[in-house]
Amino acid sequence: MTDTRPLFRFCACCPAPCRSVLGTADELQHESRTPSSLSLIALAVIDGQLPWDGASRAALVRTEAAHACARACPYGHDVAATIDAFVAQRGAAHEPGVPGN
Ligand code: SF4
Repeated sequence: MTDTRPLFRFCACCPAPCRSVLGTADELQHESRTPSSLSLIALAVIDGQLPWDGASRAALVRTEAAHACARACPYGHDVAATIDAFVAQRGAAHEPGVPGN
């Protein structure tokens, strides 16, 4: 399995020049949906600072803006695809107290 930490760390600290592709009036211009924010959330899950629960999963499935940003990443990173794979690999979120989870 590929270690995604280096990519997520790089992207989390990047000033996000890719974001300009979204435009100023774009509804995808939410800080929590940028590749940097998604990377930070994924890192927190990997490092155990955030649980893999419904809230974490809900935050990480919002990759529409990050997919748009992928074509504008000057470093050639497709963070959205890596986040999608991360979510798929993690599977269903665990919700304590909910039967079947
Ligand atoms: S996708 Fe590329 S340009 Fe955008 S924040 Fe991440 S590393 Fe930076």
